[in-house]
This record gives sequence, structure tokens and C-alpha cells, in this order.
Amino acid sequence: MSVSKQLYQLQEIDLELEANEQALARVISQLGESQVVVAARNELTRESQRLEELRQQQHSMEWEIDDRTVKLAAVEEKLYSGRITNPKELANLQHEADGLNSRRSQVEDKALETMEGVSRGEAKVVTLGSQLKKLEVEWQHEQQQLLAEAERHKATIADLKQKRQLMVVNIDPAAVDVYHGVKKQKGRAVAKVEAGTCRGCGITLFTAQLQQARGNPLVKGSNCRGIWFLA
Ligand SMILES: [Zn+2]
Repeated sequence: MSVSKQLYQLQEIDLELEANEQALARVISQLGESQVVVAARNELTRESQRLEELRQQQHSMEWEIDDRTVKLAAVEEKLYSGRITNPKELANLQHEADGLNSRRSQVEDKALETMEGVSRGEAKVVTLGSQLKKLEVEWQHEQQQLLAEAERHKATIADLKQKRQLMVVNIDPAAVDVYHGVKKQKGRAVAKVEAGTCRGCGITLFTAQLQQARGNPLVKGSNCRGIWFLA
């Protein structure tokens, strides 16, 4: 096998290695917390807190209603007991009863509104909870797939590295040095020549260049400066 063909094969391995390393990096960057899940979790937390506040409001309104009911009963008991006969005192009691009554119905209206809010909040929390669960399940599934994908890339990389080592020992070290030098400068060291055309840059080789490339295994392209490999 010609040296340029060996280097071309080495390059094929290196390209596959690079592709796998890039893919692995991409997969790793996708691992971890999902923004969508975090946002859904935050929304559920906010909605649950709002619901808890509404429930507390509802409870304190219920306490207030009970309290006014008890007070109203006491005032009315006095009012209709017949014990009090003084008209002014009776008028005061009536006024007090009216006040308690109207404040109680105000609170009752508010409590009703709050109760409706609680019902809506409960329904929303249930919906958000199941949405979050669904997202979490999807996310876990995706993470497992990503982890499996990462493992596959790691295994492929290990295989390729081993293959590369075995390959390199059979190539003239000076040629490997040239390969690394050109690769470092250009990213891709070997340019395949097919049907007289350099695949590295697209130029058509002169007959003299083709002959030169055939005779010298490490001749570089006049244009792209890649090591020519005559396929
Ligand atoms: Zn070229």
C-alpha cells in the first residue's frame, strides 16, 4: 500500500473520531436539567402557593362569619328577649344587629368568591401537576436515550483510537509527521485525487502533476496544499 493511501486511511479514522467526539460533546451538553421542566415546576409551585393563600383567606373569612353569627345571635337574643324596654337602648341594639348583619353578608359574598377561586386554583394545580409529570417522564426518557448515545460514542471513540494506534505503527513515522503538520495547518491533510481532479479543492491536475504524485508519495497539491492521494 502506498504511503499516501495509508495516510488517507488514517485521515478517514481521524475524521470519524472527530465526528464522534463532536457528537459526544453535543450529547453531553444536552444532559442535565431541562428548562421546560424547570419552568413547569416553577409554575406549579407558584400556583400551589396562590391556592394556599386563597385557602387561608377562605378559612379566616369562615372564622369571621362564625364570629359575627355568634355576636349577632347574642345581640338579637337581647333585642327580642323583652328584657330591654328602653327605646334608645333598643334602637342601639337594632343598629348593632344591622351592622353585624351587613358586615357578615359582605364577608359571605367575598367568601363565596374566594371559594370559587379555590376551586379554580385546585383544578389548575391538578392540570399543572399532570403536565409536569408528563414532562418529567419525557425528560427522563430523553436523558436515558442521551446517556445511551453518549456510551455508544465513547465505545466508538475507544475502538477508533485502538484502530488508529494499530494503523500508525505501520506507517513511515516521517510521513505521519508530515500528515500531522499539514493537518494542523489545514484541518485536513490528505486530498483525494479522482479522475485527475483534486477533491480537496476541485482543480484538475496537469499530467506532469499526476506523474509527480505517482512517483512521490508525499507531494502536496499546488492549490489546497493537501497531500495528494491518487485513488
Ligand atoms: Zn487540492
